[in-house]
Amino acid sequence: MPRVLVLGGTAEARELARLLLEDPRFTVLSSLAGRVANPRLPVGETRIGGFGGPSGLAAFLAEDGVDVLVDATHPFASTISRNAALAAEASGVPLLALVRPEWSPVAGDQWTRVPTVPAAARVLARREGGRAMLTTGRQDVGEFAALEAWWFLIRVVDAPSCALPPRHELLRDRGPYTVESERTLLRDNRIDVLVTKNSGGDLVSAKLAAARELGIDVVVVDRPERPAGVPAVPTAAAAYARLVGDA
Ligand code: NAP
Repeated sequence: MPRVLVLGGTAEARELARLLLEDPRFTVLSSLAGRVANPRLPVGETRIGGFGGPSGLAAFLAEDGVDVLVDATHPFASTISRNAALAAEASGVPLLALVRPEWSPVAGDQWTRVPTVPAAARVLARREGGRAMLTTGRQDVGEFAALEAWWFLIRVVDAPSCALPPRHELLRDRGPYTVESERTLLRDNRIDVLVTKNSGGDLVSAKLAAARELGIDVVVVDRPERPAGVPAVPTAAAAYARLVGDA
């Protein structure tokens, strides 16, 4: 019975854990970083907390008898993805990446694409000010702290611990959202610009459709590079099929 370690923190990771748990040919362990106070837990065995870098993860793979490693972390969690690639190479454990497809602009979208969150903050700094909605996550909000000309609606799962922009409102929510609810939120808060990472997936994409309908500018942070040479699949079902094929 191959033992699969799923590096998670995403809906796709939870879905893969469910598929593997239901299949008696596998045992599965999910891993979460422990960033969120009340995480959505996957079914089955779960561990929480860092491994201690690539060497810690490699040691864990050996101690726990992991046969296959699946990196199903968020597309912006680049450190753990790099660690997974290094640990897999060092230990000889096969690694599969589960990477949800990114969003692409469609007709009517007004996107400004930037390479990083600080670059998104610089785009706003160059504009005269207004009302922006931030959906880049708790860890990146501090990048906007110096922007005094802007009022921010900051949507986060847990409250940020960093410095915040002088004029803001915190909205604690984790979705999923509907186009209708996103349209109402953007309109009621008179949002001029939406700032988002290109996270991809369906759970939080309604904001893009709502922004399109309302003619709102969207600053989209492109994904960081992924480690080279790691095979990748786009869905939990595809990851499961690959694991079954290799088992
Ligand atoms: P990161 O910067 O890539 O990783 C920082 C450190 O956190 C890693 O070096 C590792 O610690 C630990 N870590 C990360 N993911 C882990 C996991 N699944 N299991 C065990 N340890 C993990 O990660 P991040 O951007 O802070 O994201 C943390 C978690 O939140 C990820 O699991 C990700 O899937 C989820 N998430 C991230 C975002 C985002 O925008 N970044 C959005 C939604 C969900 P050690 O080096 O000590 O092993």
